[in-house]
Amino acid sequence: MPTPQPRRAPGSAGERFAVIDPATGEAFDEAPDQQPQELDAVVDRAHQAWRSWRSDPVARTSALLAAADAVEAAEADLAPLLTREQGKPLAESSAEIARTAARLRYFAELDAGPQPITDGRPVRSEIRWRSLGPVAAIVPWNFPLQLASAKFAPALAAGNTMVLKPSPFTPLATRLLASVLATALPDGVLTVVTGREPLGARLASHPGIRHVTFTGSIPTGRAVAQGAAASLARVTLELGGNDAAILLEDVAVERIADRLFWSAFRNCGQVCMAVKRVYAPARIYSEVVEALAQRAKSAVVGAGLDPGTQLGPVNNAPQLTRVERYTEQALAAGARAVAGGHRLDRPGYFFAPTILADVPCDSPVVTQEQFGPLLPVLPYGSLDEAVEAANDTGFGLGGSVWGTDLDRAEAVADRLECGTVWINHHAELSLAQPFAGTKESGVGVAGGPWGLYGNLRPFVVHRPLEAPEEA
Ligand code: NAD
Repeated sequence: MPTPQPRRAPGSAGERFAVIDPATGEAFDEAPDQQPQELDAVVDRAHQAWRSWRSDPVARTSALLAAADAVEAAEADLAPLLTREQGKPLAESSAEIARTAARLRYFAELDAGPQPITDGRPVRSEIRWRSLGPVAAIVPWNFPLQLASAKFAPALAAGNTMVLKPSPFTPLATRLLASVLATALPDGVLTVVTGREPLGARLASHPGIRHVTFTGSIPTGRAVAQGAAASLARVTLELGGNDAAILLEDVAVERIADRLFWSAFRNCGQVCMAVKRVYAPARIYSEVVEALAQRAKSAVVGAGLDPGTQLGPVNNAPQLTRVERYTEQALAAGARAVAGGHRLDRPGYFFAPTILADVPCDSPVVTQEQFGPLLPVLPYGSLDEAVEAANDTGFGLGGSVWGTDLDRAEAVADRLECGTVWINHHAELSLAQPFAGTKESGVGVAGGPWGLYGNLRPFVVHRPLEAPEEA
């Protein structure tokens, strides 16, 4: 289900909406509630800016490198604001900002120069990569800056301009980031718009947009693709995941337990490619459940701004309700909460880190994406059974295999139907790798050179090797 939207700011005339601090459940600021009709002027400005931005790759590189420096220099302002509206521990906000700067540098220095086509014909053929025009980016609330940069860094490096819409749950750090970037980028190259629906729907279907790049849930991704079909804009969709971690018989449980736990619970489990299901061999099932439960019980839960907090609140009330509902459904179907299993009795959107054992495999917490501090652990008999269960889903984002014999682990990893698979790790991405889900987890490829080319179109020039002879 796509997430319901934040409420209108009390007492406002409708042109601003409230932004909630998830650590208190109280509004602490507001953001402009821009209306769909405002997009015409914004997209028009993006078109104007595109004319010169696309034409000078050297100026682009230096502007993007300057933008990276500006982001780093603004870290002390950006990080607390991001934590305040998103909920994550301050150190994770700082890491998100560092990643944003690193991504700008990475794409600033990637080159999509001309490429010759050699096919033996007596012509000189060459691909010259061209930008597309204004790109629309729509992103969710779990990594507002990092995911925005995954859109704007390659799109701008390719010579496009962008209109970026953050989630209405987390508009503020993105607005601040836009003003930081504006110190380095020409006017109109990157414009942030904030507002509630139908702003995103209108942006996705705007006739002036040439590429719609979306990160979010599968149902909203479908709506975005339908909207973009009106103008036949290119579509890139980075959607939900339900990643399985398969533990092998020879896994050293205590050695991997911390890493496995945080692969599921980092950012309060609100990570598209978090571990969302653990499959453990029946022989060591209790040991695995106990090791994870211990970590869940000892994780320090609190406001992201409190030093020492390891796990913040869930970002928003509808998401907290979803986590609670999935837990209750599993418990009602016979699962055991070996740790947590309930909200925390304090203000804000806190949920106790939860490990569920003996969960029926058709429970929504196994079949759907929980996207919260909640992890089902399932036993398996044979490896074939584990691989089949891991693949028995419409999602196909990531997966992992954990064990001591790396060759054996890799052979199992090779059988998983997903875009990225890790051995003894999970959810660690290099800026240089392609990032693409299979099945319903996505369309198109982000990351690395593939992310750059996803924002370019090939323009092919053929010319004969020799000038025509004079008549
Ligand atoms: P969501 O789909 O509810 O919203 C995502 C964005 O779309 C928000 O900005 C929202 O305001 C906007 N939106 C809502 N309705 C729209 C419409 N009709 N047309 C256009 N835009 C619309 O997702 P969410 O709850 O914000 O984020 C959580 C989801 O994002 C999870 O499913 C998670 O797995 C996914 N996600 C995927 C990746 C990835 O890279 N694959 C990364 C992070 C999050």
